[in-house]
Amino acid sequence: MNFRIGYGYDVHQLAEGYEFWLGGIKVPHTKGSVGHSDGDVLIHAICDALFGAANLGDIGKHFPDTSNEYKGIDSKILLKRTYDILLENGYQIGNIDSTICLQKPKIRPYIEKMQSVLAKTLNIDAQKISVKTTSTEKLGFVGQEEGISAHAMVLIHSD
Ligand SMILES: [Zn+2]
Repeated sequence: MNFRIGYGYDVHQLAEGYEFWLGGIKVPHTKGSVGHSDGDVLIHAICDALFGAANLGDIGKHFPDTSNEYKGIDSKILLKRTYDILLENGYQIGNIDSTICLQKPKIRPYIEKMQSVLAKTLNIDAQKISVKTTSTEKLGFVGQEEGISAHAMVLIHSD
């Protein structure tokens, strides 16, 4: 088998008056993620990691934020399309590991639901998807609650 790894990173601004979509679910919070799509930072990091692993560019190349087609789009649709592109190129997901950097709210209670929603979107076992979370000890834009970031690593393979 041919194994490849990929890494993805994404940042979004947090602001009042926006819905807070994260890991494919809507999280109750006073602020939400600002973006051209639904602003789901975790899914965007995973998409970038998948494209990177296959050396197929990045999320902006495939789903440009200048396109009206992607305005307000559910990022789960982008994730599914990303994996479809990898499957067309002969790759399958081995596993995904990820970390969400966020000061508030506490994300741990939502992680199991995120894993199951992401697994369903990708049609893979939830056991293959790890979602971790960390605050940044009130430091920087994450700690000051100005934004949210996410890191993702994936292993893909082709036969
Ligand atoms: Zn993004």
